[in-house]
Amino acid sequence: MSVQVAAPAVELKELSGPMDKAAGPPCGPGPGVSCGGERPPLSGCPGLSAAAAAGLPPGAAKVPQASAMKRSDPHHPQHRHRDGGDSGGAAAEALVSPDGTVTEAPRTVKKIQFADQKQEFNKRPTKIGRRSLSRSISQSSTDSYSSAASYTDSSDDETSPRDKQQKNSKGSSDFCVKNIKQAEFGRREIEIAEQEMPALMALRKRAQGEKPLAGAKIVGCTHITAQTAVLMETLGALGAQCRWAACNIYSTLNEVAAALAESGFPVFAWKGESEDDFWWCIDRCVNVEGWQPNMILDDGGDLTHWIYKKYPNMFKKIKGIVEESVTGVHRLYQLSKAGKLCVPAMNVNDSVTKQKFDNLYCCRESILDGLKRTTDMMFGGKQVVVCGYGEVGKGCCAALKAMGSIVYVTEIDPICALQACMDGFRLVKLNEVIRQVDIVITCTGNKNVVTREHLDRMKNSCIVCNMGHSNTEIDVASLRTPELTWERVRSQVDHVIWPDGKRIVLLAEGRLLNLSCSTVPTFVLSITATTQALALIELYNAPEGRYKQDVYLLPKKMDEYVASLHLPTFDAHLTELTDEQAKYLGLNKNGPFKPNYYRY
Ligand code: NAD
Repeated sequence: MSVQVAAPAVELKELSGPMDKAAGPPCGPGPGVSCGGERPPLSGCPGLSAAAAAGLPPGAAKVPQASAMKRSDPHHPQHRHRDGGDSGGAAAEALVSPDGTVTEAPRTVKKIQFADQKQEFNKRPTKIGRRSLSRSISQSSTDSYSSAASYTDSSDDETSPRDKQQKNSKGSSDFCVKNIKQAEFGRREIEIAEQEMPALMALRKRAQGEKPLAGAKIVGCTHITAQTAVLMETLGALGAQCRWAACNIYSTLNEVAAALAESGFPVFAWKGESEDDFWWCIDRCVNVEGWQPNMILDDGGDLTHWIYKKYPNMFKKIKGIVEESVTGVHRLYQLSKAGKLCVPAMNVNDSVTKQKFDNLYCCRESILDGLKRTTDMMFGGKQVVVCGYGEVGKGCCAALKAMGSIVYVTEIDPICALQACMDGFRLVKLNEVIRQVDIVITCTGNKNVVTREHLDRMKNSCIVCNMGHSNTEIDVASLRTPELTWERVRSQVDHVIWPDGKRIVLLAEGRLLNLSCSTVPTFVLSITATTQALALIELYNAPEGRYKQDVYLLPKKMDEYVASLHLPTFDAHLTELTDEQAKYLGLNKNGPFKPNYYRY
């Protein structure tokens, strides 16, 4: 088993031409496709122009590649760091197993010929349990959608969608959604999401001339939200046929599912599916007369598991799996370890861009939102202790500091501790400040960071919440004792009252605050969705044998490309290396610009 960090099978092309700020860069030198404008040529556009790819200087994609890169997995604290420190030298690509073993990956550079290359687990948990088992950061991130407004849902309509006969306006009944009549509302949601998903819109523009996913038959199992709809419609525009089910029984936005069904996507999903519905929907996506998937896009591994269990022969035609979640990736590594992974898989969870957005930037925004929505508090002058100064902790601290809070940090790692000091935070032990702080936030990925003893010593009205891992960081179970009274004061807000009248304010029962009480910005999901789309393009177009039956990280160059596609939103002008500078640094002008061990 190994994690492979490979150069892209697709060769990237230069982008040039006027920048289209509103919709992102139209890219590539194909008809009507260019990108960059005032900025210099940017790292390329994977998979969108064979001609452009051919135009690259020889070896354009064959630049010094990875050293070690470890996958991040909160279930395996020792694997949490994305960038292994064990550099294997700048010129080698690396295979890194989760135990840290490094071996070299193949370094072939292939050109992609999108238009021409057409061709082609065990007891299931319960309804609630499945949800938590499938939990991953990105997946959990979208859990908040389950609480998103569904203004056209009629709670009176108890009929199971499975018992309804529905047709879209074109007469197709190849879907199963709550109510096809909600399509118009869903379409509006999708249009709103499109505004914040510039990269996918840019890919669509490029697809006008080229169809890098022509012939692709993608079966997907993700949250069905407006952002997913933008992804699906982009995949469609790139030439793919899609069939889709939900990866979570609660998170489907019924209007959006209806809009997708109305526009011809076979979608099988609704909010509030039963366990049986859940598997039925997946089966309806896979088990179709005259249609067989050749690509899988999964979030949590349930779809992959189903195909392995029920239709293993399908893997003969499947070219690859793209997996989004920590849990799903973990399952893939297990399959790989057992020698049972029979197609290449792309771990998009651990791409740098996605991780940065999920952990740092998203938490920086959502910590304030989550606290505000639940408590209506004002942050200025409040004393806050943030436990853990990793990516999530840094985001929380930065946001609170900016609001005028007095922020203390606790850390176990001297490097992160020193970073906290250099950023102007007081590094303390939790015990030292626990009596005085107004808010306690955990961001460690660890367990029992806040214990009953800490909780006993907190001052009246202290707010306690978790932004880190699952619900382990605060010892909430220790509060379930007879002498303490729990009072639910709002959704996701409990007062826990001591016999002397002291109360603490516990948010989301110690589960992730932002996922329970806030929303995930579309722009964050745009990063994820673009990464997924590029991973699909990469695996689908990779020449035979380029990827083995193993789990791969998205090539660094594509990670850079995902970022570059989002830059025009900010009218950002990227500097281009001169030939002399590129030579001096030993880089290709089009990237990748960093070795895989680089810490962003
Ligand atoms: P990280 O490894 O970068 O940071 C965690 C930090 O906590 C480390 O620096 C570590 O030294 C420190 N730490 C560990 N135990 C500690 C303790 N007992 N006291 C004080 N500090 C301690 O990880 P990260 O990327 O910041 O993620 C942290 C957690 O947040 C993970 O569990 C991750 O899965 C989760 N996460 C949550 C969200 C969200 O939306 N809320 C998003 C991404 C990640």
